[in-house]
Amino acid sequence: MEFTIPERVRNIRQIVRDFMQREIYPLELALRSRPFRELVPVLAEKRAKAQQTGLFAPHIPEALGGGGLSLTEFAFMSEELGRSPIGHYVFNCQAPDVGNMEILMAHGTAEQQERWLRPLVRGEIRSCFTMTEPEYAGSNPVWLGTTARKDGSDWVINGQKWFATAVEGAAFAICMAVTNPEAPSPYSRASMIIVPTGTPGFELVRNVSVMGDQGSDYASHAEVSYQSCRVPQANTLGAEGAGFIIAQDRLGPGRIHHCMRWIGICERAFELMCQRAAQRELGPGKPLGTRQIVQQWIADSRAEINGARLMVLHAAWKIDAEGAYAAREEISLIKFTVANVLQRVLDRAIQVHGALGMTDDTPLAYWYAHERAARIYDGPDEVHKTVVARRILREHGLKISSSP
Ligand SMILES: Cc1cc2nc3c(=O)[nH]c(=O)nc-3n(C[C@H](O)[C@H](O)[C@H](O)COP(=O)(O)OP(=O)(O)OC[C@H]3O[C@@H](n4cnc5c(N)ncnc54)[C@H](O)[C@@H]3O)c2cc1C
Repeated sequence: MEFTIPERVRNIRQIVRDFMQREIYPLELALRSRPFRELVPVLAEKRAKAQQTGLFAPHIPEALGGGGLSLTEFAFMSEELGRSPIGHYVFNCQAPDVGNMEILMAHGTAEQQERWLRPLVRGEIRSCFTMTEPEYAGSNPVWLGTTARKDGSDWVINGQKWFATAVEGAAFAICMAVTNPEAPSPYSRASMIIVPTGTPGFELVRNVSVMGDQGSDYASHAEVSYQSCRVPQANTLGAEGAGFIIAQDRLGPGRIHHCMRWIGICERAFELMCQRAAQRELGPGKPLGTRQIVQQWIADSRAEINGARLMVLHAAWKIDAEGAYAAREEISLIKFTVANVLQRVLDRAIQVHGALGMTDDTPLAYWYAHERAARIYDGPDEVHKTVVARRILREHGLKISSSP
């Protein structure tokens, strides 16, 4: 077992660390006090600078204009970027574009890649992913109300979606819709369809207010309506009926991206917690860090973050070596483990900061509000725990049906 971080990764981390220090951290306060859309011009300048590092769209092969990192290498980079809420955006590897780029690369036709993937990789456009619906449980990905029916050479899409991240300003959506309701397997009934957001019948109904923040531009989650929305059948991504399989493809590496981003958040929160514990005095010469309970929070957090990082790197290594399917148990394990470590570390860091922790003078409150969702999106904790436990119990002779 080799724990040495390869030189190439160390260099990448240093480049990113220096960039964050110079270009990104100074912008953070503005992010917390002004709508995201007002920052888009200055962020565009930062993105242009990020392109010069050769690490823009790091997860995409160099031949397609990306940074050419393996998943494990990208995981290390993702941890550095995660230390700021805008790190991934500046390096063009933010959700949902990161996942959309990956599925366009794996399943898109040459024409789709030319029209949508290449401008995404260059950072000229953004995209969104519309799968979840207000009236259907998102935890059951094969149960959808949105339909796409064939009419001549077109699809006509009807349905309601919500919690689609970054619709405002996106050039296209990838829509998950039922196209083959009669298919014998529920896993073969839906397809993914590329829908330019300017298509008549595609409507951004509202940005959903989340924890008191309606958000804007990239930093928003929208309700979207498809009403007789007509696009060519040539916009089908991958095979007809393969929507579920492609969604699974998207989520494997996607969970590594999220988990390493969360580790980055944990590290920053941990650093802030330790600084505050060392500096804040309860009385003359009595720093907060002299209290045993604070020491316990620090030790527990350090142990939990270290453990979480090892689990994620192992899962990334297994995906690189054997593919996402072979690593599905590891992927489920990290998803709920790291999401919960994140909640605990953020909570302790805020507690140590007292009232200051509730303000927007540090990034802690922003993360506390926005990252509670980590335990819900990309599969809630309970679903991942069920997946893992079912597989383990099968080895002990107990077979449990996979239907929800
Ligand atoms: C910030 C944020 C961003 C998102 N971005 C996107 C996006 O870009 N595109 C998109 O399509 N969707 C997105 N989503 C939606 C997300 O994928 C869904 O919220 C998620 O799949 C859960 O679906 P649901 O909200 O319908 O919850 P439900 O399916 O209604 O589940 C509710 C709760 O029930 C419990 N539960 C569910 N299943 C089980 C089970 N088998 N056993 C025990 N308990 C269970 C869990 O506690 C769960 O939280 C986003 C969500 C959030 C919060």
